[in-house]
Amino acid sequence: MESKILSLGAKLRRGEITCTELTQQYLQAIQTEDPSVHAYVKVTSEQALQQAAAIDAAFMRGEELNPLAGIPMAIKDNMTIKGIETTCCSKILQGYKPTYHASVWEKLSKAGAVLLGKTNMDEFAMGSTCESSRFGPTYNPRNLSYVPGGSSGGSAAAVAANTAVYALGSDTGGSIRQPAGFCGIVGLKPTYGAVSRYGLIAYASSLDQIGPLTPTVKDAALVFDAIKGYDTKDHTSRKDIPATSVADKLNRSVKGKRLGVAKEYFEDLDSGMKDAVYQAIAHYESEGAQIVEVELPLLKHAVPVYYILACAEASSNLGRYDGIRYGFRAEKYTDINDMIMRTRSEGFGKEVQRRIMLGTYVLSSGYFDAYYKKAQLLRNQIISSFDTLFTKCDALVAPIAPRTAFPLNYASDNIIETYLSDIYTVPVNIAGLPAVSLPCGKDAKGLPIGMQLIGKQFDEETILNLAANFERSGRAGIEPLSKGVRL
Ligand code: GLN
Repeated sequence: MESKILSLGAKLRRGEITCTELTQQYLQAIQTEDPSVHAYVKVTSEQALQQAAAIDAAFMRGEELNPLAGIPMAIKDNMTIKGIETTCCSKILQGYKPTYHASVWEKLSKAGAVLLGKTNMDEFAMGSTCESSRFGPTYNPRNLSYVPGGSSGGSAAAVAANTAVYALGSDTGGSIRQPAGFCGIVGLKPTYGAVSRYGLIAYASSLDQIGPLTPTVKDAALVFDAIKGYDTKDHTSRKDIPATSVADKLNRSVKGKRLGVAKEYFEDLDSGMKDAVYQAIAHYESEGAQIVEVELPLLKHAVPVYYILACAEASSNLGRYDGIRYGFRAEKYTDINDMIMRTRSEGFGKEVQRRIMLGTYVLSSGYFDAYYKKAQLLRNQIISSFDTLFTKCDALVAPIAPRTAFPLNYASDNIIETYLSDIYTVPVNIAGLPAVSLPCGKDAKGLPIGMQLIGKQFDEETILNLAANFERSGRAGIEPLSKGVRL
């Protein structure tokens, strides 16, 4: 598939359309489509049109601009933009206007990106369905009776509904890859430390990573190239991030590449999903890749390890919301302790409260060794299992989720099943690896099935090249939707 960013960029450069006209078309599409999809929680029309006018003027002056210049996009509501209300879709941050830009937006705005608005998400990025937002759920644009996935469901839905060319999301345990999979688009979770987290409101700091949701693999590579890099403002940012572009290395042959398949990823998978991923594996084989059987027996521990660590970190990160420093404060209270208690009880939704309690429990003395410490030990073992596995192969291919999109309201009645459905995405976060998800087929209801390619740290190049190769084959059979802006 042709890169949407590059094809729109070519139209802008040839003068077939101005950036202002393009932005207006997107704003119009949001008005038409978003009442049924609800991908956006805030539309920044005025700012978008100002940015667009500045880009038009720069093109008029004949300036050489970044490929992302003039391209309308959206950002998940957990990344700060100076002066624009940012709430993580939680009541507790109601009215919070950050005083600084997230580093990703600093970079993108310098590159000339046009921000259309902030997208919906599960409250504080905790969830797999995008239904726990205080603004109400987002609907899957491919079938409005299903969820778009989560937590970056708004970003995925905006891209799938063509109401943004691309969007940023964050992935702590799958929140870019799984919604991309449910909506039939591409999602890249970069290596931990490759993209600055400065200005990303923390859920679980050792797992969180920002990345793009895009219509094509090339677009994901272009956005990744623009947002990656060392940042002094983020102490977990890495200095050894390869500076070279990945976007211009997507046409390489996959011949001789060693593609790992770990049987544990397929054991409990329904046969339709299995067939779709196997078909992709057969495609790679026909392209000359070498399929290697590998093992990841620790996969069964990934979900408990993830939920213990993520909730522990969340309970500490969310301690700062006390009614004093940010956003919402309860109206009635007797003293300061009562104020903090009421603010937190009224300001956080049910799922967030559940996770804060779970996190506080596993960190409490008496339980710390039994849960948190054990989870950290297992985390190290999972990291070394991947290290061993990557001595035998260059990348792994795996499903994204055990199922396609959940029907609306399913997850709230099936909490444990929903947690367990994160099994295929969380190992990547636990080990800090990069992974790209892309469509590889559809189920009997026509809902997209996704697969992911997992790479070694900082080897986004190999997984994106493999993904681009499969995309070119056209085997996924998932077409872009005919709603929204079709240029
Ligand atoms: N579904 C996972 C969770 O609920 C992943 C969330 C995420 O990646 N932000 O924690």
